[in-house]
Amino acid sequence: MAPIQHAVSRVMRSLVMKFTLLCAGVLIAAIALLTGIDYQTTSVENRRRSLEHSELIAHLLAGDTAAYLARGNVEEVSRRIDSFVSRDDVEGIYIVDPLRSVITKAGETEFADSARAADPLVIMALGAAEARIEVRENIIRVAKPIFYDGRIIGAVVVNVPTSAVTRPAGELLRRQLMIAIAALAIFLPLAAFAVRKSLGPVRKLTEAARLASSRKLDLRIDVNTGDELEVLANAFNRMFARLDASVKRIHRLAYVDMVTELPNRERFRKELEHVTRRAVEEDDEGAVLFLDLDRFKRVNDSLGIGEGDRLLEAVARRLREAARGWDLSHGGEGGEPSMVARLGGDEFTLLLPRLRDPSDAARVARRIVDAIRRPFEISGHQVFLGVSVGVAIFPKDGADPETLLRHADLAMAAAKRNGGNSYEFFEASMNQGAFERLVLENELREAVKDDQLVVYYQPKIRMADGSLAGSEALVRWRHPSAGLLSPGAFIQAAEECGLIGDIGDVVLRKACHEIAGLRELGIEIPVAVNVSAMQFEREGFADSVLEALEDAKLPPHLLELELTESVAMRDPERVLNSIEPLQARGVSFAIDDFGTGHSSLSYLTRMPFDVFKIDQSFVRDMSDDPHARIVVETILAMAKALKLKTVAEGVETTEQLAFLKAQGATLAQGYLFGRPMPLEDLMRFAQPVSDEAAARAAAAGI
Ligand code: C2E
Ligand code: MG
Ligand code: MG
Repeated sequence: MAPIQHAVSRVMRSLVMKFTLLCAGVLIAAIALLTGIDYQTTSVENRRRSLEHSELIAHLLAGDTAAYLARGNVEEVSRRIDSFVSRDDVEGIYIVDPLRSVITKAGETEFADSARAADPLVIMALGAAEARIEVRENIIRVAKPIFYDGRIIGAVVVNVPTSAVTRPAGELLRRQLMIAIAALAIFLPLAAFAVRKSLGPVRKLTEAARLASSRKLDLRIDVNTGDELEVLANAFNRMFARLDASVKRIHRLAYVDMVTELPNRERFRKELEHVTRRAVEEDDEGAVLFLDLDRFKRVNDSLGIGEGDRLLEAVARRLREAARGWDLSHGGEGGEPSMVARLGGDEFTLLLPRLRDPSDAARVARRIVDAIRRPFEISGHQVFLGVSVGVAIFPKDGADPETLLRHADLAMAAAKRNGGNSYEFFEASMNQGAFERLVLENELREAVKDDQLVVYYQPKIRMADGSLAGSEALVRWRHPSAGLLSPGAFIQAAEECGLIGDIGDVVLRKACHEIAGLRELGIEIPVAVNVSAMQFEREGFADSVLEALEDAKLPPHLLELELTESVAMRDPERVLNSIEPLQARGVSFAIDDFGTGHSSLSYLTRMPFDVFKIDQSFVRDMSDDPHARIVVETILAMAKALKLKTVAEGVETTEQLAFLKAQGATLAQGYLFGRPMPLEDLMRFAQPVSDEAAARAAAAGI
C-alpha cells in the first residue's frame, strides 16, 4: 500500500500534474467567465424579447378587438381573447372600457374580478394614452389603450409569462457544462502532453544531477530548446566540468605522491584492504614488500632537495619496471596488477595480489635489490643506493593493512640490520624482537633519568715515545639486572628512538667533570668525546659544549670532539658554523672511523678538522688485506701532507703498531695499550707509581 501511496503522492506533486491542474483551473475559470457573460447577455436579451413579445400581443389584441368593442360585440371580443389565452405565451387577458370597468376577461388575471379594475397599470395606460408595461417576477404585464377612430374606447391588459418567451437558465447552464466537459476532455490531455514535453529537459537535468550526486561527473546534458532551460543546461555542463576537474585534483592530492606520481600511503592502504579481504574470501595468497632505501638520507643531504626528488623519481621508475615484469609473467591469472606506492621519505611498498608461491615474492624482491643497486645518474654524477626489503605474505602474516605493513616493516628492519641491499621474509620472532626493542627503549629512558650511564676511558698513546697522549670517552650502561652494557647493545636503539642526543649530553658533561677533577689532582689527560649526528645537529650545539666546559671548569684545549664522516659530510655550512666558534676557543675536532664512509676527499680535506681516526677495520685487516694496507698508507700520507694528527684505532698487536709507526701515524688506541676503563683506572694508567696522587684521589672520593 505504502509504495502505491508514495507513487501517487509523487505523481500528484510532480510538475506535470501541477501544470496540468493549473491548465484545468484556467480552462474552468475561462468557461465559467464565458458562461457568466453568456448568461448575463441572454438575460438581457430575454428581457428585451419578452417585452417586445408582450407588447406585440397587446398590440395585436388591441387591433383585433377594437372594431368589435366599438360596436359593443362583447361576445366576439370574448371569443377573440379566449383564442389568445389558449396560446402558451399568454396567461390571462382582460379588457376594460375607458372607465376601467371590466368588459371581458380570460385566463389568469389580477384586478379583473372587481367591476372596476383598480389596476394602476391600466390607470397609467389610459391616462397616458399609450402602452404601459410592468415586469414582475415571472410575468410581464402590458396595458394597452384600444383606439377606434382616434379615440380611446378601452384598454387591454395582457399577462405574459416570461418563461414562454425565454430559454430557461438551467438549460443554458447544462449546455455550458457540456461544453466545459468536452473542452476539458480534449484540452487537458493535450495540456498534459505539452507540459510533459516541455519539461523533458528538466527531467534530463534531474537525471544529470542524480548521476552527479553518485559521483559520475564526466557527463554532458544535451538540451537544444533555445530557451532558459538550454541556458540552465549549459550552466550545469560548465558546473559539472569544473566539479569533475576539482574532484580529480582532490583525488590526486589525496591519493598520489607528488614527487614520484606513485600511489601514496592512503591509496595503498585502501588497495591492500580490498586485496586482503578478497584473498581471505577466495583462499588466495599475496605479498606486501616494504622497501627502505639504504644511504638515501646521506645522498639526499649531499645532493640537495631538488636532486634528491629526481633520485626518488628514478627509483620509482625502476620499481615500476620491476613490478611490470612481474605483472607480465603473472598477467594471465586473474589479471590483477601489482601496485607500487611511496609511503613517504625513502620508503616504498609493492603489493603482489596473487602469488603462485611465496618464492615468487622472493624473486621480485631480489630483482628490486638488483635494480636499485645499479648506479643512478643524477646531474652528471653517479649515485649509489641500496635497498632493504621486508616481505610479508597475506593472509598468513596478517589479513589487514596495518598488521601486514607493520610485519613487512619489521622484516625490512631485519634486512637493514643485516647490512642492507637484501630482503628478509617476516617471521613471528621479529615481533618479539620489536617488543624487546620497545622494552629496551623504555629502560634506556629510565637509564638517562636515573643516572645509570657511566663513562669509560680508553687511553691514546703517542707513537713516538709510548706516553699517554689522551683518552676517548666511551659510554657504558650499568643496567640494573643485565650488568655493564657496551654501546653496541643500545646505541642503535638510542639513535632510532632519538635518545642518542640526551645520552651524548650526559657523556659530554660527565667526561668534562671527571677530566676536570683529574686535572685538579694534577693529572692532565685530554679527552675525546663522540658526538652523534642528532646531538650535533641540535639547535645551539656549540653553546651547550661551551656550557659543559664552563660548568666543569675544563680548559677547552683538553676537549676533542669526534664526528663520524657522515655527520661531517652533511651540510658544510652548518658544520663550519658549529665547529668554528668551538675551535676558536681551543676545542679540537676529529673525524671518527675515517675511511668507512663515501666522503669526497677533496671536500673533507677542506674542512677544518684536526685529527683523522683511522677506522679499526682497516687496522685489523692490514696484515691479510693489501687493500686495507693501501687505505691506511694513503690516509696517513694525506694527513701528513695536511699536517693533521692521526689516531690509529683498534691496535691489538705489536706488528700493527710497528707498521703504523713506520707509516707515520701519530697516535694509537687499542687493546694493546688498554681497554676502555673507569676513571680511577685511567688515573692509575697515567701515573702508575704516584702514591701521593692515589691518596689524594681517595680523599677526593674518586
Ligand atoms: P668508536 O668511537 O670508534 O670507539 C672505539 C670503539 O672501539 C670502542 O668500542 C672501543 O672499545 C673499541 N676498541 C678500542 N680498541 C679496540 C681494539 O683494540 N680492538 C677492538 N676490537 N675494539 C677496540 P665501544 O666502546 O663498544 O664503542 C663503540 C662505538 O659506540 C664507538 O665507536 C662510538 O661510535 C659509539 N659510542 C661510544 N660511546 C659513545 C658516546 O658517548 N656517544 C656516541 N654518540 N657514541 C658513542
Ligand atoms: Mg670514537
Ligand atoms: Mg672509531
